[in-house]
Amino acid sequence: MIQDIGTHYYHNEYTPVPPSEQDFILCYNEKTVLIKKTEDSFLLPRFCDIPNWEKEPYIYLFSIDEHHFYILPKLEPSLLSGFTFEDLVIFRNENPKELCFALITGFHLFSWYKSRKFCGKCGQKLLPGTKERMMYCPHCHNREYPKISPAVIVAIRNKNKLLLSKYAGRNTTRYALIAGFTEIGETLEDTVKREVMEEVGLRVKNIQYYKSQPWGLSGSVLSGFYCDLDGDDTITLDQTELSTAQWFEREEIPYDDYDVSLTREMMIQFKKGLY
Ligand SMILES: [Zn+2]
Repeated sequence: MIQDIGTHYYHNEYTPVPPSEQDFILCYNEKTVLIKKTEDSFLLPRFCDIPNWEKEPYIYLFSIDEHHFYILPKLEPSLLSGFTFEDLVIFRNENPKELCFALITGFHLFSWYKSRKFCGKCGQKLLPGTKERMMYCPHCHNREYPKISPAVIVAIRNKNKLLLSKYAGRNTTRYALIAGFTEIGETLEDTVKREVMEEVGLRVKNIQYYKSQPWGLSGSVLSGFYCDLDGDDTITLDQTELSTAQWFEREEIPYDDYDVSLTREMMIQFKKGLY
């Protein structure tokens, strides 16, 4: 999965040290990221790639092993010759894996910082925290912490079959599992039952937690659950959310080649007869 980065270690502690010239710069524009493509991989910009890098204002994000990652709010991307903005989906199938994880995790933080420039209570400009990863209002003392939206991924079993679906309005051939965000006041198990009923009109039982996964593209943490169909297997599709949903025999379950998503791992585990 995207967070499995082998022997590398993701340091999430907030230690906003100044950058050095070999540290990495994450530069996003909407859902694209600035990289330099190589024959079989890609490079991220480093501070030594820009002139007068010591003078650039920076936001410290995190570290992987000894490498620090930063956003530069005032960076002029054209200073980085040879680098181009590429669609963020490269994180799905590129190497090295630890940099792909950095791309998607940095995107979550970038999106949060971009939406937290002003205080939601009094409208004054927010300042970055010095000891914690948060934005602080010097006027009314409001604190804004990083926003993570909990969501569930649901694998619905019907004896030897699994329910697979496709999202509406997306150009993807990939099958997915039922998914949705947790509402205020719900347990994760409540979310499972509600989302399954809303999207495909089915009742479920034996809800069993599997694993979780950070998913920066949607600013969420995903919790995966297996469950069993309870009663009638007739699907009533919510066509605003899904374009299709159907039962697949275990042996016929298709999955894509890229080893990044919790959804894919759960489909494969069922296919192998392990769940
Ligand atoms: Zn304020």
